[in-house]
Amino acid sequence: MICLTGDVHPMSLQINDQKHISDSALTETRITQQYVGLLARYGVKATLYVCGGCFRDEWCDLEPVVTHPLVEVGGHMFNARFPRECFDAYGEQTGLWNGPKWFQDWDIGEMIRVAQERGGAEIVSWRAHSYMVDSNSHELLAKHGIKLVSDDVESDSVWPRTIDFGLITHPINVIPDHDHLYHAHRTPEYVEEVNRRSYGADDFGAVSYTIEDWGEKVIEQVERIDRIGGLATVLAHPLCHFLADGFATLEKILARFASKPTVFARDIRDLADSPPPAVTAWLEQHPPALRPVRYGPMGRHLTS
Ligand SMILES: [Zn+2]
Ligand SMILES: [Zn+2]
Repeated sequence: MICLTGDVHPMSLQINDQKHISDSALTETRITQQYVGLLARYGVKATLYVCGGCFRDEWCDLEPVVTHPLVEVGGHMFNARFPRECFDAYGEQTGLWNGPKWFQDWDIGEMIRVAQERGGAEIVSWRAHSYMVDSNSHELLAKHGIKLVSDDVESDSVWPRTIDFGLITHPINVIPDHDHLYHAHRTPEYVEEVNRRSYGADDFGAVSYTIEDWGEKVIEQVERIDRIGGLATVLAHPLCHFLADGFATLEKILARFASKPTVFARDIRDLADSPPPAVTAWLEQHPPALRPVRYGPMGRHLTS
């Protein structure tokens, strides 16, 4: 079983990848329309975590994306930590990477409100921009009715599980794209420089690959999880794939996924904590690694 996910940002966020869109008629949301066209071609479902700013500023382009039957809309923060420098500085001081509690409360509420008002979508699935969760996030998300989160990168988490405040987490358990892919500004020189500053590594190391090699790894890892009978949560951003090779590798991946069951994040709500016997047996032999709490005053994060 596969849960394909991607994150979508408004152009007002000015993230690095967006600066590499050479056609001025295109935006990340318009590129996501092409991604959804490919989902339709292969009959693959995806949960797209969309920033509130896309609903606010780019609704005409976003509407066909969020109303498509193969798309579940998840929340990706209303303001998405903009301007990032301010949120990073505040986070370094306080450990609250998403600003003061009252602000994060407002941000989550606005995200849910704008998606409901514009698209009629009831959001139950969430991923923080840059996976930036702090000690207030889960309490606030649960308060606003969010049920599912997917902010951790854990190669050995092959089944969703209940965490604090009754939320269910389904970590990304297949090598994510952006941080492991040469594309846009992430040239081999850039990645080497970032690694020299020991910016950080996730479960898949601090290594980057060409899009072709990354695609092969994804297919291998998904098939391994599929053989166990687990849930593979894949992160493939529309913009990263557009920039890396104009969706060529994504199409190969979707062609492989087409023969397997794909699910929305919201559909795995009832599966948490009751894995099939084969998954339980596998987990007994491969207990998940103990991991430090990811957030705190000295918390570090990937994604640049
Ligand atoms: Zn994001
Ligand atoms: Zn990227």
